[in-house]
Amino acid sequence: LIFLSGTLSPYSLKAQTSNASKELDVKVATLLQKMTLQEKVGQMAQITLDVITKGPDRFSSDEPVVLDEVAMKKAFGVYKLGSVLNTANNRARTPETWFRIISEIQNAGKGRLNIPVIYGIDAIHGATYTAGATMFPQQIGQAATRNRELLRKGAEITAYETRASGIPWNFSPVLDLGPDPRFPRIWETYGEDPYLTTQLGVQVIKGYEGDKNNISDPFHVASCLKHFLGYQVSISGKDRTPVSLSDQQLREYHLPAFKAAINAGAHTIMINSGLINGVPVHANFTLLTKLLREELGFKGLVVTDWGDIENLYSRDRVAKSNREAVMMAINAGIDMSMIAYQYEPFCDDLIALVKEGKVKQQRIDEAVTRILKLKYQLGLFETAVTNFKNYPKFGSKEFEQAAYQTAAESITLLKNTNNILPLKKDMKVLVTGPNANSMRTLNGGWTYSWQGEKVEEFAAKYNTIVEALQNKIGNNQVNFIPGVSYKMDGKYYEEYADQMKEALEAAKNADAIILCLGENSYTETPGNLSDLYLSDLQTEYAKQIAALGKPVILVLNEGRPRLISKFEASIPAILQTYLPGNFGGDALADILFGDVNPSGKLPYNYPKFPNSLVNYNHKPSESRSVVAGVYNYDADYNPQYEFGFGLSYTTFKYDNLKMSASKITANDVLTVSVDVTNTGSREGKEVVDLYLSDLYASVTPDIKRLKGFDKISLKPGETKTVSFQLGKNELSFVNQQNKNVVESGDFEIQIANLKTKFSVQ
Ligand code: BGC
Repeated sequence: LIFLSGTLSPYSLKAQTSNASKELDVKVATLLQKMTLQEKVGQMAQITLDVITKGPDRFSSDEPVVLDEVAMKKAFGVYKLGSVLNTANNRARTPETWFRIISEIQNAGKGRLNIPVIYGIDAIHGATYTAGATMFPQQIGQAATRNRELLRKGAEITAYETRASGIPWNFSPVLDLGPDPRFPRIWETYGEDPYLTTQLGVQVIKGYEGDKNNISDPFHVASCLKHFLGYQVSISGKDRTPVSLSDQQLREYHLPAFKAAINAGAHTIMINSGLINGVPVHANFTLLTKLLREELGFKGLVVTDWGDIENLYSRDRVAKSNREAVMMAINAGIDMSMIAYQYEPFCDDLIALVKEGKVKQQRIDEAVTRILKLKYQLGLFETAVTNFKNYPKFGSKEFEQAAYQTAAESITLLKNTNNILPLKKDMKVLVTGPNANSMRTLNGGWTYSWQGEKVEEFAAKYNTIVEALQNKIGNNQVNFIPGVSYKMDGKYYEEYADQMKEALEAAKNADAIILCLGENSYTETPGNLSDLYLSDLQTEYAKQIAALGKPVILVLNEGRPRLISKFEASIPAILQTYLPGNFGGDALADILFGDVNPSGKLPYNYPKFPNSLVNYNHKPSESRSVVAGVYNYDADYNPQYEFGFGLSYTTFKYDNLKMSASKITANDVLTVSVDVTNTGSREGKEVVDLYLSDLYASVTPDIKRLKGFDKISLKPGETKTVSFQLGKNELSFVNQQNKNVVESGDFEIQIANLKTKFSVQ
């Protein structure tokens, strides 16, 4: 870790040599031998903190966490449970409180064999359940930076602050693709592209786990890849509803990121909560054992998603009882159950199943071996809970600067007619819209609480868009009138007109109007959506603002691209901020007034119409322009803005696209280079994307696929050469036999407006 002082190491850093790994195997086997069946199945159960805390309703109370001794005695003393997750009362806690809670749990949980409890949490854009932790943009915004280094650094900081909270296991990153803008969790993904997801995912694993996956180093955490496999592509666009995917599609699009992350050493994986082709993934032996273990060689721990063993019975009805559900899931390959129907019958059922011979003892031993191994690898046997006092950089300016930088590089300039941006600092602006003065909307879900509903309480010291603009150009130049507001105690999508007339009146006297629209925070099923258009009220408001004929800058702050085609043409400038986190307001203000040059690129196609949700890497028949021949029908590839799009305040010119050869074999590596020049008058960062098209193939090829990207910084007049390597990984696709192959034939490379061809022989 570049940013650590190096003086804090009360713990031992263990090199994972093969000797050390043999030693570990012996340790685990020795411990396993001493364990009773009850102790073993206890390791396989994970409960939420609420189960062992006293107090009122978990969704409303802000009371201090009081651990319930009776409940703890039962959970750990009788049932020997091995893992706890999440927070109590759905609320963030200070590092001090986390230290107290987890210390008490470790004391109660260690039992006669001194086995530590493993604590897991969703620290998905920073240590999200720790008050004072550094909040980064959500994954979708991180993807827009296209900056590998920034993502890695962000993950290092998140790991540090999660450990500062005493927690060694992070349920992150999400490696699901996010190709469906209707889905309520696409902002938790790196967007619609498999290559981008793969490249960024690997960096984040390295950031969480360290270069050599040295997770016993107390500044790193075990990562958890989720949600294996094929989540977020349901037919309905709603969370946890059926998915239909062929094996070819699973392998071509959904598998690569998981495969790369497993090869990068990720220690744990979480299973997709839904059904694929009618089979719940939690009961799918082919995916969980054949593919994950035998083919991909994954050696780590497999955990269910929330309550998903019970779902096999109560929701998906492939099991006729909870006990049968346990049998199916454990036999399919699950090692740990996150939230069983109730842990007592779960443990009793699993013990009974072993005694009846329906679950083999060997399957239990294998699962428990993996769990114990992870606990050893994390150093928990030596230090069961890391102490916040050893983490002086928690919430530091240095960390905040990294989060700011990530936000600044994520914000994507989608439109800038007549260069109306950047604005001049002596302008008087009206700031309006439901997202203008809210920390909750900047952060989104999974921030200090599940739905992000408690953000304002914890993020008061950071700047909303209005506050950041006031800091930038002075209070008296910034007039804020909401116009539309979210009902903070209602459903996330409930809104009301809030001084709309006053805002429209004030707009007439402003030099520019900064119109902040989008969504309130949400995640998972509560975030399901029936209409992809931006809400009627916001749409109507935008039309009225635009009709004033003033310079309007639309600032979008949303988890998914809500359609704006009903008024987009009448708005001269548009910025997408995604969910930029606690420093998003500051970053936006710097971009609006020209102190930062925007460099974000869309990680998805921003659709124009609800019946045209086509991804950039679609089949040829989905874009009219390339359909030749007999039936040139009216396909409607018409995104509002395409994947990879994003403007700058400067201009870049691309020349000299060169290849190391024009004919290669399937075993060669082709080097491609291009010169990029900053032809404008400002310094700027540019993302250089390489798209590859396999022109003819035995499975209809995608029109183009991202197969390389780099981000460079150029001073005015400066030129840099960027090069890419194309080998088997980039040239291959999954054929009808589900094999990764390179077929001979012609390929086309596209970088910006330049194109060239080569052939594979
Ligand atoms: C989500 C997971 C999350 C888990 C634990 C589930 O409902 O699908 O992404 O890690 O809860 O909070």
